[in-house]
Amino acid sequence: MAFKDPERKRAYQRAYDHARYAANPQKARAKTRLYIEQNREIVNRRAREKYNTERQRPELRAQWAAQTRAWNRRNPAPARANKLKARIFELLGRACVLCGFADERVLQIDHIGGGGRKARRENKGLPVRVKFYRYVLRSLMLGENKFRILCANCNHIDARSRLFISENVRQARRNLLKEMGNRCVRCACAEYEALHIDHVHDDGHKTWGSRGGSRLLYFKIIRQQPDRFQLLCANCNWLKRLESKSGQLEAA
Ligand SMILES: [Zn+2]
Ligand SMILES: [Zn+2]
Repeated sequence: MAFKDPERKRAYQRAYDHARYAANPQKARAKTRLYIEQNREIVNRRAREKYNTERQRPELRAQWAAQTRAWNRRNPAPARANKLKARIFELLGRACVLCGFADERVLQIDHIGGGGRKARRENKGLPVRVKFYRYVLRSLMLGENKFRILCANCNHIDARSRLFISENVRQARRNLLKEMGNRCVRCACAEYEALHIDHVHDDGHKTWGSRGGSRLLYFKIIRQQPDRFQLLCANCNWLKRLESKSGQLEAA
């Protein structure tokens, strides 16, 4: 069909496209996606040009800002963070890569070799979890091998291996943990470097107030008041924390 009037030609094309899309939306979308993939440079250049001309127009910029605000309202930060997290776990797997532990409540995204702080610098202004997950996702998309899934135990063991601890304190801790049974009171895990000294009643503030103190002094207090402390592995420590948190939510 030939049109002399370009306006009529465009209208016809639009109606044709709409009809095609309505007839089979999935097929039409797939075709569009394929076109974008095969012509990425052209598509990107056109988008850039469009953006550069349109952003000169203040009324459009105000409209974009309003759209962003509305989108943020529809997608509150925690929900966005959870969505991103789910995608990361899909890509990295839902079990600890070192020990296979698969309770998702204690699985953590480990920055291989440390260095998570950069994530915070690179995404200023976003909610902190969204920021971190976006950083992780971008890295995964780039095919960098920077992240892996670890359970809290393996993560703790790994982090401790990079920590400087004086031989004095190491020895004192070994002695104390031996006295306390050298295993987690919940799951009997005996992975020494994964064990935490836990405040049974979550009253750590009573030991320290708002300040920290020397390890050796801390160990002394534990010996004096053994009923207030117990050994938990990092996984069980997380679970306990989550349980007490949901308990608080239910009580509130
Ligand atoms: Zn593990
Ligand atoms: Zn445990």
